[in-house]
Amino acid sequence: MPELPEVETIVRGLRPLLPGKTIQELQILHADVLRQPSGEFSDRLQGHTFESVCRRGKNIVAHLTGDTVLVVNLGMTGRLVLARDETLTTHPAVRFSLSAGPALVYDDVRRFGAVEVMDEAEWAERDRRLGPEPLSSSFTARRLYADLARSVSPIRSWLLDQRRVAGVGNIYANEALHLAGIHPQRPARSVTEGEARRLHRAIRWTLRRAVENRGTTLRDYRDASGNPGDNAAHLRVYGRDQKPCPRCSTRICRLVFGNRTAFFCPRCQPGGAGGIT
Ligand SMILES: [Zn+2]
Repeated sequence: MPELPEVETIVRGLRPLLPGKTIQELQILHADVLRQPSGEFSDRLQGHTFESVCRRGKNIVAHLTGDTVLVVNLGMTGRLVLARDETLTTHPAVRFSLSAGPALVYDDVRRFGAVEVMDEAEWAERDRRLGPEPLSSSFTARRLYADLARSVSPIRSWLLDQRRVAGVGNIYANEALHLAGIHPQRPARSVTEGEARRLHRAIRWTLRRAVENRGTTLRDYRDASGNPGDNAAHLRVYGRDQKPCPRCSTRICRLVFGNRTAFFCPRCQPGGAGGIT
């Protein structure tokens, strides 16, 4: 599932190419990815020009002329690509023909993603409901510690909640917890001040490095040009069940809770549901 580094990589790919281009025509191939009737969706976008493209959490946010905002959440297998080559899009759901260059295509094999049009006020309301950007200066160790202290959720589940921190998903939550030496099932409020500082550093380091590596491709993720990312080879625990921990060589364990698989090193990340009280 694309997380902050993957979405950031896509946005960086689109940013030099989309602004200034006008949506001339829309082709809706699978309306189930839309959050409004396809007629309304098309009417609100057709003829409008892209002004800027940015990322908020795991969302691609494009601002267009006429108080129009296009918000794309890639779900599990979504891609937003400039389809220079038809082979880049295997399961196109929405195709935006632009005034110049290749079409912009939202492609999604499993179609758990969402493509939505709204006005700036609606977007501002949505934006307010998301937690801080983990790579921004508003995300501090002190704030993280204070927020964790108010929750009994397992720390891994806490990190996945987009209202707490925006953009972290299961891959980077597991990676950051390993780096910080915190068991994924520890109650959030059991995390000490020192551990919160380590976790804060680990989240930022993990995300920054993944952005530098242009995201993690395990299977479906591709950037805006259709290329896979290079970060998978750098994962410490995610998807590495029974392989040696990069720090202590103990076998990595997997554990399913909250409907998601957690990966951790039982030696570097001691404890569990009981945690430190
Ligand atoms: Zn270890």
